[in-house]
Amino acid sequence: MASLPTSQPITDDDEALQRALADAHLPSILPALAQLTGDLSLLRPNLVPNASPFARDQGGYTEGQMDEVRALALDALRAYRDGGSQPAPPPSDHALRALIAFITANQANDQYVPLLLEELALPATDARAPQWHKGQIAPGRPFLAAIIGAGMSGILAGIRLKQAGVPFVIVEKNPDFGGTWFENTYPGARVDNPNHGYSYSFAQKSDWPFHFSTQDVLLDYFRGCAEEHGLRNFVRFGTEVVSMAFNDEQATWAVRVRMADGHEETIEANAVISAVGQLNRPKMPDIAGQSAFEGPSFHSARWDHGIDLRGKRVAVIGTGASASQFIPHVAEQVAQLSIFQRTPNWYGNNPNYHAAVAAGLQWLFAHVPHYAQWYRFWIFWTSTDGLLAMVKVDPDWDGGPQAVSAENDRLRRMFASSMEQQLADRPDLLAKVIPNYPPASKRIVVDNGIWPATLKRPNVELITSAIGEITPQGVRTVDGDEHAADVIIYGTGFQASHFLTPMHVTGLGGRDLHAAWEGDARAYLGITVPGFPNFFLMYGPNTNIVVNGSIIYFSECEMTYILGCLRVLFERSERALDCRAPVYDAYCERIDAGNRQMAWGVGKVNSWYRNEKGRVTQNWPFSLLEYWQQTQAPNVDDYVLL
Ligand code: NAP
Repeated sequence: MASLPTSQPITDDDEALQRALADAHLPSILPALAQLTGDLSLLRPNLVPNASPFARDQGGYTEGQMDEVRALALDALRAYRDGGSQPAPPPSDHALRALIAFITANQANDQYVPLLLEELALPATDARAPQWHKGQIAPGRPFLAAIIGAGMSGILAGIRLKQAGVPFVIVEKNPDFGGTWFENTYPGARVDNPNHGYSYSFAQKSDWPFHFSTQDVLLDYFRGCAEEHGLRNFVRFGTEVVSMAFNDEQATWAVRVRMADGHEETIEANAVISAVGQLNRPKMPDIAGQSAFEGPSFHSARWDHGIDLRGKRVAVIGTGASASQFIPHVAEQVAQLSIFQRTPNWYGNNPNYHAAVAAGLQWLFAHVPHYAQWYRFWIFWTSTDGLLAMVKVDPDWDGGPQAVSAENDRLRRMFASSMEQQLADRPDLLAKVIPNYPPASKRIVVDNGIWPATLKRPNVELITSAIGEITPQGVRTVDGDEHAADVIIYGTGFQASHFLTPMHVTGLGGRDLHAAWEGDARAYLGITVPGFPNFFLMYGPNTNIVVNGSIIYFSECEMTYILGCLRVLFERSERALDCRAPVYDAYCERIDAGNRQMAWGVGKVNSWYRNEKGRVTQNWPFSLLEYWQQTQAPNVDDYVLL
């Protein structure tokens, strides 16, 4: 199901309502009920929630406040039920602002509100859908857009181009939709952002089974969205783009594709949208002796389900977000697990990480119109720009290199104290798992206690000595210890900074994209590159976020911008847009300066956020609001029209 189902009428008795409310998310239920009943007096000043990341999940409510919210909610639900489950008319603009003011504790200023309304998508609107159609502004003009990739961004691009009446084809190397959710089938794979926030704004879903759903659920969701929008017939599955060359005279792209049988052909396109993602090419480490290993080995994103790990001695190299998810599952099956950790993670504790959504909350989502939207709104807001303060460098901070500011230090102490409590009985492990770098210098990993519990298992060893070589029978560390293994699993991440590899892309005058980048990928707004007209990137350089927001939000912003660019071409009868170099240069300088003020820009620790040259090529250092503002529509002056 890729969209919100219609709410069911309430016929249940008071006791059932009370049981459901025991599981309710309280900060979001009052706005939902105020909207449902039209009674804004439910938004009591003494019940304004605290959206700080340091507040508890229930908006920092005391027990007394929680009782009061539940009592108010019970009365409102009863009245709604007894009135025949008839919602009040849609809220006025004034009422909507009051609802937003309440749930954000008056923190959302006027600049934010339009963005928040788009995310809220009330009532089931899709404010980001194109408000134009090629058939009206450029009827009959031949045009084809090639989208590379049918993952989260590619599906979105297809949906939007279809809505705008722009002819397109999607080229996907895999046999089905889903991208990262298709490829990462390792045990334990699940979304590590709260799931009710991890959805397209226009295809919200109220019945996620888990707070952080498993890979199969996410794959179903994205496939469902693609199917619902009729994209399947637009996709060439099992087809990989090998190269793209811009034809200066015709202002078209020759997109060379290779099918699974090795056969190649060329698609001529007027625009290309790369939706290949940042984390799709596995990175295998360069360790001596790798090829001599006699047992099976594989990367986490190419999980070999044919290998039965039960009773085996398994070595896992890497302890990033992927490994942190699959290691607990592997540990349960194997005779011996040797985990090779190069750098420990900061773990953010979330007790809901593996939890199913409680029956009462599911019931409320199914019966209270728009409650799931307000819950998603809460997740969006509480993971929005307020979090940036915790990862921003304070130039006056003198508290040591393990934090970048007092706020960051507070986060560090919160994470450290959680680990200290969980490993109080194992000081040997504690010494190995507490990082010595500021939180958010590299990715913070979610946990619910399963990581320390796994490390404590008798069949698990956490090895922090550097790997010297891989031998035919296992792994030898530089201290000379041999760690026998029947299977090696590489949780070594992705070639994140090698954007668009291994595709060969040539633009104006035959300019090679990778040569132009010199291993240091950049793009204006993460989307366009001078000399590569009508070539648009989604989830391109510096559009990854670290602590705030979701990648889906960024993709939606990028697609708004790309649609704006295409509209310019159609309205002005131009063939192509080429980003001006000075605009791009100034933008990149600003991004670099921004990243130098963030924990990930100054931390001296390994991280996929930086490329081989040490520059942060992945992350967006500013607010979500700024990205939204900058991607509302292209400034035509930023481009040369060809
Ligand atoms: P990663 O975070 O890059 O982790 C790679 C791990 O391999 C690190 O522990 C790294 O150590 C280690 N490593 C790499 N080369 C090594 C070598 N030669 N010797 C020893 N250790 C080596 O990759 P990932 O875990 O696949 O995660 C990548 C990103 O994908 C995540 O940060 C996240 O954004 C995304 N992801 C999301 C989800 C989700 O939403 N559910 C799940 C998984 C991944 P160092 O730390 O020392 O480099």
